[in-house]
Amino acid sequence: SAALLGLALDNSYATELVGLHAPWNPTPAPKPQLMALNAELAGELGLNIGALAGADGLAVLSGQALPSDASPVAQAYAGHQFGQFSPQLGDGRALLLGEVVDTLGHRRDIAFKGSGRTPFSRGGDGKAALGPVLREYLMGEAMQALGIPTTRALAAVATGEQVQRERPLPGALLVRVASSHLRVGTFQFFASRQDLEKLTRLADYAIARHDPALAGQADRYLRFFQAVAARQASLIGQWMGVGFIHGVMNTDNMTISGETIDYGPCAFMDGYDPGTVFSSIDHNGRYAYANQPLIARWNLARLAEALLPLMGDDSDLAVAQVTQVIDAFPGMYQSQSLSVMRRKLGLSASESQGDEQGISDATLVEDFLALLQAHGVDFTLAFRHLADAAEVDNGQAPALMALFAAEGREAMLAWLQRWLSRATQSGRPRGELAQALRAANPLYIPRNHLVEEALEAATEQGDLAPFERLLDLLKNPFEERAGMDRFAQPAAAEQQLGYRTF
Ligand code: AMP
Ligand code: MG
Ligand code: MG
Repeated sequence: SAALLGLALDNSYATELVGLHAPWNPTPAPKPQLMALNAELAGELGLNIGALAGADGLAVLSGQALPSDASPVAQAYAGHQFGQFSPQLGDGRALLLGEVVDTLGHRRDIAFKGSGRTPFSRGGDGKAALGPVLREYLMGEAMQALGIPTTRALAAVATGEQVQRERPLPGALLVRVASSHLRVGTFQFFASRQDLEKLTRLADYAIARHDPALAGQADRYLRFFQAVAARQASLIGQWMGVGFIHGVMNTDNMTISGETIDYGPCAFMDGYDPGTVFSSIDHNGRYAYANQPLIARWNLARLAEALLPLMGDDSDLAVAQVTQVIDAFPGMYQSQSLSVMRRKLGLSASESQGDEQGISDATLVEDFLALLQAHGVDFTLAFRHLADAAEVDNGQAPALMALFAAEGREAMLAWLQRWLSRATQSGRPRGELAQALRAANPLYIPRNHLVEEALEAATEQGDLAPFERLLDLLKNPFEERAGMDRFAQPAAAEQQLGYRTF
């Protein structure tokens, strides 16, 4: 039946990394029901969507039937959680079913989340609730459509049993696809046990999978570390550009691939405020919006510590080399961030004149953000409305001005003049500029109140229509759709106040 699904599993993690995981089977869902199936992703993976949506497909997606070529494992990992090291975390409610080589030739993991207890479950039940599963599905697809590297959901399946949280909730599992599930914490697991043999196998596996050009080179571990740092600088720059707050950037939730993983307490910011925190457990704002690049660097330093034992006999030299990468990270991030923001403001770097123009573009960005912050303006809409401001040549920009209270408008208009002259400096037609701005700045993001509304309908009324409508909209975030204005708007200020994720 797996053949019917077009599902040909490979198991490189299971077979090449014996001793770095625990072979384990999913707990079959007692009464599975397909809640969402990702046809687009199934196509990418070369799966047969028709069969996947049928009884054979559901049996596999719910852990009831193991494909004969499956060799599922629970992956070991450690991690710093809110700065505290836990030597053993691991797949407590996840399970790697296997890998597929997709239609582009890329190896992708297929994993369950919420498929029952494993040897790494500690006190947990190994289960997931339907609300958070649908939330992860929605957030991942939104990020994908925004062009941001991410793990994705292939399916969400209600298990037919209740899970016990503060109250009983409908249970579910997510079938997650990732370019790998290797985390900073995976390296920490073996480094903290001083198991050099397994650490070496893990690092060479990661290099073969994510940075194959480095395989076999003498300085491959250092260069691998640089590559991971570069991917993270790029990823965090892109998060910041859409107002995304991950919420729990523990080292076990940071991938080697540079994909976003673990959509738990994440949320998108409304009014621009660098201190924004949504997670109910992030009491000190460690993972606040503006801290994300700093935390990425901190996490990379933990990865460096884990990789150091592999970097030859001259440990002083190795420390100096990784330190150089860590010290270079803020600059790498700044340059990624500037290129993200230039695109959001419709400024082309090639028009700029060397460093001086770079600095003034950065100032233009900073000044815009300062205005948004000072007046509590919606981050997403402020950027989006720049397109209208570019198109209409009366210097008024009514849509953008409407986001500001009266006392903010004069300063905003002054900024608009500076920006327009820079953005059209080489005679770029305004219509073309507006088009570029609309392609760079989404109109629809997963706004907290809309996500809550969709999840509540699904979990309380069994009504998936709001979830599907929101998902459909978020899959085309740059394209304005008639009659959908409500979905572009932030919640009323009093509704935004005190919004918490768990
Ligand atoms: P997270 O905060 O989602 O990154 O999870 C941290 C760790 O807790 C990971 O090792 C998870 O596998 C584990 N975990 C989270 N929820 C559960 C659960 N319900 N049962 C077992 N383990 C869990
Ligand atoms: Mg996690
Ligand atoms: Mg989580």
